[in-house]
Amino acid sequence: MMAQYLEIKSQYADALLFYRMGDFYELFFDDAAAASEALDIALTKRGKHDGDDIPMCGVPVHAAEGYLLTLIRKGFRVAVCEQMESPAEAKKRGSKSVVNRDVVRLVTPGTLTEETLLEARRHNFLAALACVRDNWALAWTDISTGALHVLPLTLARVGPELAQLSPAEILMAEGTETAVSNVLEDLGLEPTWLGKSSFDSTGALTRLTQQFGVSSLDAYGQFSRPELSAMGALIDYLDLTQKGRLPLLRTPQQEKLGNSMHIDASTRRNLELTHALQGGRAGSLLSVIDRTATASGARLLERRLSTPSRDLSVIRNRQDAITWAMSEPVVARQIRDALKRVPDLDRALSRLGLDRGGPRDMAAIRNTLEQADAISGMLEPLDLPDMLTTAVAACKGHEDLIAFLDETLIAEPPLLARDGGFIAPGYDAELDEARKLRDEGRSVVVGLQAQYAEMAGVSSLKIKHNNVLGYFIETTSTHAQKMMAPPLNETFIHRQTTANQIRFTTVELSELERRILNAGSEAIEIEKRLYATLSRAILDQQPALNALATGLAELDLATALADLATDLDWCRPTVDESRAFAIEGGRHPVVERSLRAQGETGFVANDCDLSADTDQAAITLLTGPNMAGKSTYLRQNALIALLAQIGSYVPAKSAHIGLVSQIFSRVGASDDLARGRSTFMVEMVETAAILNQADDRALVILDEIGRGTATYDGLSIAWATLEHLQSVNKVRALFATHYHELTALAAKLDGVGNATVAVREWEGEVIFLHEVREGAADRSYGVQVAQLAGLPPAVITRARSVLDALEKGERENTSPKALIDDLPLFSAVARPPQPAKPAGENRIEAQIKNLHPDEMSPMEALQALYHLKTLL
Ligand code: ADP
Repeated sequence: MMAQYLEIKSQYADALLFYRMGDFYELFFDDAAAASEALDIALTKRGKHDGDDIPMCGVPVHAAEGYLLTLIRKGFRVAVCEQMESPAEAKKRGSKSVVNRDVVRLVTPGTLTEETLLEARRHNFLAALACVRDNWALAWTDISTGALHVLPLTLARVGPELAQLSPAEILMAEGTETAVSNVLEDLGLEPTWLGKSSFDSTGALTRLTQQFGVSSLDAYGQFSRPELSAMGALIDYLDLTQKGRLPLLRTPQQEKLGNSMHIDASTRRNLELTHALQGGRAGSLLSVIDRTATASGARLLERRLSTPSRDLSVIRNRQDAITWAMSEPVVARQIRDALKRVPDLDRALSRLGLDRGGPRDMAAIRNTLEQADAISGMLEPLDLPDMLTTAVAACKGHEDLIAFLDETLIAEPPLLARDGGFIAPGYDAELDEARKLRDEGRSVVVGLQAQYAEMAGVSSLKIKHNNVLGYFIETTSTHAQKMMAPPLNETFIHRQTTANQIRFTTVELSELERRILNAGSEAIEIEKRLYATLSRAILDQQPALNALATGLAELDLATALADLATDLDWCRPTVDESRAFAIEGGRHPVVERSLRAQGETGFVANDCDLSADTDQAAITLLTGPNMAGKSTYLRQNALIALLAQIGSYVPAKSAHIGLVSQIFSRVGASDDLARGRSTFMVEMVETAAILNQADDRALVILDEIGRGTATYDGLSIAWATLEHLQSVNKVRALFATHYHELTALAAKLDGVGNATVAVREWEGEVIFLHEVREGAADRSYGVQVAQLAGLPPAVITRARSVLDALEKGERENTSPKALIDDLPLFSAVARPPQPAKPAGENRIEAQIKNLHPDEMSPMEALQALYHLKTLL
């Protein structure tokens, strides 16, 4: 057995081997050590190998899914090795034969299908990234729903596209790693490396045409070599992990880079689209807007939010569907009620396709079809927008399958087909009979006894049972004579004569006996056969069922967004080809919700006008104290643009948005110590990305850029960045800054204006009005905010007097440095004694001595030089 184990294990070196032994999966050697630690289960020993104990641990088969989940989450891959025959069968081959075993499946993060292992409301993508002669492509699939997509790419787009997809697992060919290793590391993705042959584009074409049963892929589009290579690798890997059982993939959908709004990884994080900065779903935009009733509706919304559209007709079609649902609230509510009863069709279908499903998945499909039928009945008579007409069409035409499933399946079938008991009575005569025999074997025998008694004219005739003969007919020898003579002896066959009884059997009785004995297993066999027929009937309808799943998800999303818009009073934005960006009464959906949850008075709505003429930038410089609401304002406008382009209504009184191609959002200097970069460096890398990539349809949001370095550096960088955005990128942008000096640029640069978040000062304290107005902030109220934050009164008083002196100095044109030297900095405390200056050394010399050029960055050196000059 150990030899067999080692042989199998050698083929799956990078996975834990779950080796089936009876009711357990057992793990040995290093696998056992790793799994026992990861699962917190006991590590024991079993036998010896080369004289040493073999470490072992095991998990019961019936609870294996939970353990699998933990292992996958902890980054392991698991090869599941089953017994391919029973111990009895093995024995037949030879007394010492080991039961045949084989790996039936390799479980990896990207190839999960079990309900318990998947998050219902999120996609689980397996992606493959391919490169052929510097041309890239990304293909991805969710095998639990069958979707297959492919996108040709440039190297620069690899990071952002992976960020929006956020795959559970990514496949790459050995040798392609160097070009994208930084990107992968940034996203925390550890690729699964495959041999180059998996990515071979010629082999890929063969695999793909086979998979879809076509002679060429032309019907699905024209695919480049890298696209074929990426899709081929997916199929190859599925073949490997599913051991030849390929999932039901939908035909490949070719995506185009220009189809969706580009949002890079840090913008996604920063805008908290699907995850809050703290990590969870709560507090994200998604958590606030998701009112979908079904899991597939929720997955659709998450995808939309990750890839807002840039196609006007797509956006308007989606808006039309929402507008319609808002205008028909009663029907919309009925549809939502029906949708709540719709199970996860996509995933049930994919499990059946992989032969990993069960009767309950079939029932899920039946229930979905029934609800879909009801929904189409509600909608059909109405005048619908295009998108919903398509959805309704997909809901119809499943009567045959519904009838078939209704007739065959019981109302609430068990999860697994293994134990039978899911086919409805009355569907299959043979099955009914088998079950009847199994359940009522005795009474059938009693029935037969009555029949024979009448036939033989012997009322005392009995059918009995013993372990030697099984079932037999017994009568006294007197009566038996009749039965041994023609014509009865054709039916009754003599078996045994005892002292005063004669025993018979009949062909029918031994047949009955055999059937009673086999009835249980026969019933199960028949059910298995019917299960296969049912499964085929369902899978034959796969394209129509896929279309139905898509239609229901669209309906769900449209009615959910309509419900949200009605409830929260959102408006339908005008989206067009212009370069407008005019929001009236805009709100931040997440902040507004959390304020309401805290019982605070309402959120203050604000307008925003970044409408730009052709070939011009439109930039608003936003100043105002900390805590005034600058970040909230910036983000809310980005979120409104994004919501508009997923085709949703938006949190505003009115909105007019010219299509946005990219959204960039940067926040000055947030710590990113985990990745070992200085905060300022991160800020600059991100700013560089915007300046290099933003086109004139980009929407840019910069929050306190330049904050991470010394004042003058920061100011100059912010200054130059602003000028570049205005004259080269020509973007629509909001630029929050604490450098009041920048506000003077508004007068100089076309398309740049000033706005401030109003505050009121009252008895030395600030009151935040959260109102955005034209103009620049006169001061920053930092000291007041510090006071609100609870700094000790002595520090606040001291800060005020320093500030007064500094401001006075500024007015009188004194250098701030000289001023600080004059100020008794520690007037509240006794000044520490000054060290006596060594003779012959002035202040400048002393400072130079304290400089350590080896430890300084060029920027710090430059700063030190400026500083020394002020001492002259
Ligand atoms: P800043 O970026 O100016 O420091 P924030 O945008 O972080 O300020 O806002 C600080 C707090 O003010 C928010 O957490 C929120 O509670 C509140 N706030 C912001 N904008 C508004 C608004 N428009 N209406 C009501 N409260 C707001």
